[in-house]
Amino acid sequence: MRECGAEFATRIRQIIRMPELSAPYDVAVIGAGVVGSAIARELAQYRVRCVLLEAAGDVGTGTSKANTAILHTGFDAKPGTLEARLVRRGHALLGAHAPSAGIPLERVGALLVAWDDEQLAALPHIADRAAQTGYAAARLLSAADLYAREPQLGPGARGALSVPDEGLICPFTTPLAFATEAVVNGVALALDSPVEAVQTASAPLQHLHALRTPHATVQARYVVNAAGLYADAIDRLFGHAAFTVTPRRGELIVFDKLARPLLRHIVLPVPTRLSKGVLVSPTVFGNIVLGPTAEDVADKRATASTAAGLAALCEKGHRIVPALLDEEVTAVYVGLRAATEHADYQISFHPAQRYVCVGGIRSTGLTASMAIAEYVVEGLADAGLPLERKDEFHSVRMPNIGDAAPRPYQSAELIAANPDYGRIVCHCERVTRGEILAAVRATVPARSLDGVRRRTRALLGRCQGFYCSASVARLLADASGQTVEAVLGVGETR
Ligand SMILES: Cc1cc2nc3c(=O)[nH]c(=O)nc-3n(C[C@H](O)[C@H](O)[C@H](O)COP(=O)(O)OP(=O)(O)OC[C@H]3O[C@@H](n4cnc5c(N)ncnc54)[C@H](O)[C@@H]3O)c2cc1C
Repeated sequence: MRECGAEFATRIRQIIRMPELSAPYDVAVIGAGVVGSAIARELAQYRVRCVLLEAAGDVGTGTSKANTAILHTGFDAKPGTLEARLVRRGHALLGAHAPSAGIPLERVGALLVAWDDEQLAALPHIADRAAQTGYAAARLLSAADLYAREPQLGPGARGALSVPDEGLICPFTTPLAFATEAVVNGVALALDSPVEAVQTASAPLQHLHALRTPHATVQARYVVNAAGLYADAIDRLFGHAAFTVTPRRGELIVFDKLARPLLRHIVLPVPTRLSKGVLVSPTVFGNIVLGPTAEDVADKRATASTAAGLAALCEKGHRIVPALLDEEVTAVYVGLRAATEHADYQISFHPAQRYVCVGGIRSTGLTASMAIAEYVVEGLADAGLPLERKDEFHSVRMPNIGDAAPRPYQSAELIAANPDYGRIVCHCERVTRGEILAAVRATVPARSLDGVRRRTRALLGRCQGFYCSASVARLLADASGQTVEAVLGVGETR
């Protein structure tokens, strides 16, 4: 039996927005980006009462939704760093997990292109460093080999390093899959719950932390800070000041799907000290993305694009794949890396305080997420958290939104079982009514147009919702018990 909108809204308020917050939790994870969600999922494998506290109204709306979405091998990470270790491990873990969890992943490989003598001379050194991090499959390519693999590359390339295990991964499905698996296995997810203050009771209450949010005060024995750009602020609430986050803005341009045949691999530049540089890459949605820029900014909400940033990207893109600039632009977007004054992840354990800080997860956190989770949970065990594996763990399989596997509109079987999967609502991305309704009724449901976008691809295509946003808003409103005005952000919730 289908729930009506009002019943659905009640269920959401009970299950998602206001989980049982009165009894103390064993662990509270602050921040439901890809990292916090991965940590909650890892903890869900044990007999541990865990709550995942998220300031925003959905999972994965911070840096995790606006990145380049490469599954990195870690070939260019600095050997010996924690980041190098966790990216290598994360590549293996997420690479193995993605197919069974329905997370779109395409192992297209990368070509690191040298455009001058200096960069050409650096390639063997980069290959050696890659081997030191444990990645030995990088191979030097001559200019002729490079052009044979990427005929649309601009003139003047001198050679390349082939990195065959770099891949494309879906940035939207990954945190949602982790959070869904966490919730299905008993983690309480509290959305719209920014942690504003922390009080810690000492003995005899054994360092019970009280985390104040606008709705409730959550008590937890252990706290994991995975607040991304705000990890430094939370760290200070716990009395530490080991790092400061200075957002490093990255602007990106998404080109239309007609541009997709221009490129077979991820085309990388030789990295600089500040960033991995501007790349051109296919996406799991069948577009081409150009970016990101790297610019330190003061404001943690500075996600607007800039004329200068986009102009710089176009100039670089024109050199890398000249024909790309003749293609139409579908969208631009901006992500903020949680950069700090340190060159490595800032993960610190404070066993006496029962607190873990997971900060400075800058340019590689999507890849490293599962390894960070594994590392953090091992650290929690060392800090005294009793960990006993559950007898049963329920795996989830997310609806596929990638281009490499069949989508619902292509499945005669699915459409026969539910005709809503044959009714296309978003024609640019071929998203069906069935998918949108499933997203609104999911374990971690879509409650906004952005939530529907990240779960289905609706509104993400070349018209950017010009033709379908009214229909999508109506569907979302009816299925979630909200008014259309509320869904569009122009009115009050029913
Ligand atoms: C331009 C760019 C390109 C990138 N490319 C790649 C790539 O190709 N591959 C890759 O692996 N990585 C890439 N990254 C890095 C990756 O996106 C990040 O490392 C990762 O998303 C960080 O996840 P997170 O969970 O730590 O942070 P976030 O996703 O920002 O999540 C933190 C969450 O904490 C919440 N929060 C904050 N304060 C509070 C509070 N007080 N109470 C409760 N909740 C709070 C926020 O609302 C947010 O949802 C890129 C990043 C950028 C910006």
